[in-house]
Formats: sequence, C-alpha cells, structure tokens
Amino acid sequence: MSNEHTKMVIGIDDTDSREGMCTTYLCALLRDELSSFAKAVSDPMLVRLNPTIPYKTRGNASVALLVECREPEKVMEHVTRRVATMSCLDNENTNPGVVFITDEQFGTVRPDLSEFFRRAVRDVITIDEAKEMALKLCLRFQVFKNGRGLIGALSACGAMLDPEWDHTYEYLAYRVKDSWGTPRSVDDDSLFKADRQTYPDTWDTVDLFNDMVVCVPHSADPVLYGIRGKDRSSVEKAASFVRCEPVERACTFRTNQGTDMHLLPAGGISEITGMHSYILEGQVCSMPATIRGGHTIFSLQDAEGQKIDCAAFEPTKNFRELVRQLIPGDRVIVYGSVTERTVNIEKIKIIGLASKYEVLNPLCPCCGKRMKSAGSGQGYRCRKCNTKSMTTQSKEVKRAVLPGFYEVPPCARRHLAKQLLRFGKEDVPVFPSR
Ligand code: ATP
Repeated sequence: MSNEHTKMVIGIDDTDSREGMCTTYLCALLRDELSSFAKAVSDPMLVRLNPTIPYKTRGNASVALLVECREPEKVMEHVTRRVATMSCLDNENTNPGVVFITDEQFGTVRPDLSEFFRRAVRDVITIDEAKEMALKLCLRFQVFKNGRGLIGALSACGAMLDPEWDHTYEYLAYRVKDSWGTPRSVDDDSLFKADRQTYPDTWDTVDLFNDMVVCVPHSADPVLYGIRGKDRSSVEKAASFVRCEPVERACTFRTNQGTDMHLLPAGGISEITGMHSYILEGQVCSMPATIRGGHTIFSLQDAEGQKIDCAAFEPTKNFRELVRQLIPGDRVIVYGSVTERTVNIEKIKIIGLASKYEVLNPLCPCCGKRMKSAGSGQGYRCRKCNTKSMTTQSKEVKRAVLPGFYEVPPCARRHLAKQLLRFGKEDVPVFPSR
C-alpha cells in the first residue's frame, strides 16, 4: 500500500426509482462509509440537470464526492458494490452510472467535463455521447443496464471539477430505514420558526402566502426534509430549529439549485425547441384564459410576429392572479421551460404596461347624463331628452398590476429557478413571492 494520498472525484447517478431510494442518500451514505479510508475534502455536490428530461425520477439530480485516499482501488470497489446493491435495478427506468477521476486527470478532463455539465443542464445528451466522452477522456466508469446514469455522473464530476458557477446549498436530513414509505413526522411550527430565524439566508422552507410547508417531500424516498440557502452555515442553522422523527444521517450539499443555470436567452420564438428552458421577451397578444384544471394561459408574440403559449399552471396558485391581470400589448420577459410548445412560467418580468380602457355609454349632449342602450345594434338614447348616439366613450383605467419582476410561490418553485431574493438590484422593482 502506498503512503501517497490521491484525490478522487466520484460521480453517481440514476440509482433510484419512484418506489424508493434517492441518489443523494447514496452519496451521503458513501461519504460516511468511506470516511475510515477516504476523507471527503469538499462539500458533496448535488446538481440538477435539464428539468425537462423525461427519464427523470423526480428532480433530475446527480451527485459527486471529492475524496482523498491512499487506496483508490478500495474506494472504487466499495462505491461500485454499493451502487450495484443499493440501486433499484429492477425498475426499468433505473440505469446507474458511476465515474471515477483521479487527481492526475483533473487538469486534462476539466474543460470537457465542465462543458458537458453545462450542456446537461441546458440541453439533451445521448447515452452514446456520454460513453464517447468517458472513453475519450480515459475515465474509469461503470454502467448498469442501459447506462443512462453515465450522463448525470459525468456532469456531476464536471461540476465538482469546475467550481466557477453560481451555487447555493442544501441541507438534507434522511430518515431511518424502517420509516421509509411511512408518513413523515416533522413539526410544522419548527419549520416556520427555522424560516423566521434564517430567511433570507435560507428560502423555500415554507410558503407564507399559501401557509404551507415546502421542504418536506411526500414520496417514498429517504429524504425527511431539505433546507435550501446561500451557504453551509445558514442551512445548518435553520436545520438546528427543526423538531422531527429520528434522523439517520444528514448531509450538506453544494448545489446549482436556485441559479437559473438551465435558462438560455432566446433571440426569438423561432429559436425555441422543446425540452429546453428559456428567457424570452415579447408582447402579450391574447387575454389570459383559465382553462380546465385551473391553468392560466396567454399567447406571447415576438418581434417577428411568431407566437407561443405561456402558462401559469395550477400549482403556481396565487401567481396565476398576477398573470390574469395581463392584457394584450403588455411587454414581458418570461422565464421557463418549454414542453409541447408551451412555456411553463417560473418568473415574469413586466417591462411595459399597455393602456387599459373601459367602454362607457355616451353622455347626453343636452342634460349630461349617461345614455342607455337603445337595444341591440341601435346605439344609445337619453330617456329624458330623447337624444341618440351611435358611438361609445372610452376611459383609461388604472392597471391593477405594476411593472416589475414576479415569481411563482415557493410551493411551486422548480429546483433550478433562481429566487428573486437572489437577484441583485434590477432596473425594475422586484416582487418576491412572500
Ligand atoms: P432523484 O431526483 O430522485 O435523484 P432523478 O429525477 O434525478 O431522481 P434519475 O433517476 O437520475 O432521476 O434519472 C434521470 C436520468 O436522465 C439519468 O439517467 C441522467 O443521466 C439522465 N439525464 C440527465 N440529464 C440529461 C440530459 N441533459 N440529457 C439526457 N439525459 C439526461
């Protein structure tokens, strides 16, 4: 055994199914299990990749660890064995991938993997592309079944090797195994207190407007709750207020959540394709309509006259009321993912309001009173003076909405969407969702 320490990045993805497990849990478990022979030398990485990918189980997450060890072979053997035994391999959509990168490779693989990570957040990558990349860079990797998890595993390694991107933190607490699949016990009041004590350094723990807890999932996975915030100390401070069932282990991850890393600036609607996320400017060209299911949709037109539907879906709750105030002619910038030719709005910047008019019956030129309708298609008539008019009057009315930057409430937040509280000073007022 050599006395030399080697650093190694380990990337893992696609180990879970909707019935159980969670790749972040496996990462936390491995960090703890490896601790006797491999020391974690930075915060574990939790990256969210393209949110529109259909193969995702929930939030399209993948993970990476950076460890220092004397026996890399022992580390690789342990990690591979745990991925093989703990992944939900019976599930047809679970296709794990694991990647190992040793420190002598860091410098040479960094540019390609950093670019690969950015593409995986914004674009769609094939399994073959991932395999070619791993082979080209002479990486040690292991795939199971169709190996789709290699895409996420390489991306998480790219994120770990290139810290030059905006980041936030998440503290994840995990349940003891016997509780998995049963209702979670986390005291709501303690979560509201954690929020009061640490907001705005932490966010999206609770949704004050909709009076609900946001940070406790309802699925069968091992996560008990997750606290998101700007740094390690803030999320850990918030977690110290939480009263809950026994926690098996906890782990604080560095993440790309809340960074808008998925959004591509779109020059126009012709550039837009499905399974991508955009920032798009245009003019509202239809009255917002609320359809069955409670989704509110309007049409947006760009400078070339192309149109696309923009939706505030039912889960965005009170945000739909804001969207319903829009009228044709309003200038907006929408932020969101595109599936089925519809932008799923995460945020909207209202940059120009059209004038809104109310149509009034005309005034009588003799007595000055408002005339009444003379019947369908027959104009207006003053009952007192018997004067007639065929024309209406219009009066500008005050808009019920102000120009500014608005976001969906925490209960509808998508993992990658950047919270308005994370924006610096903007040229328009910011209306955070609380
Ligand atoms: P959880 O959030 O519970 O960890 P998940 O939502 O992360 O689950 P996965 O089980 O990881 O879902 O499945 C997502 C799959 O999609 C992975 O195999 C991953 O490699 C792949 N994938 C991720 N990003 C892309 C992309 N941009 N293009 C193609 N495939 C991708």
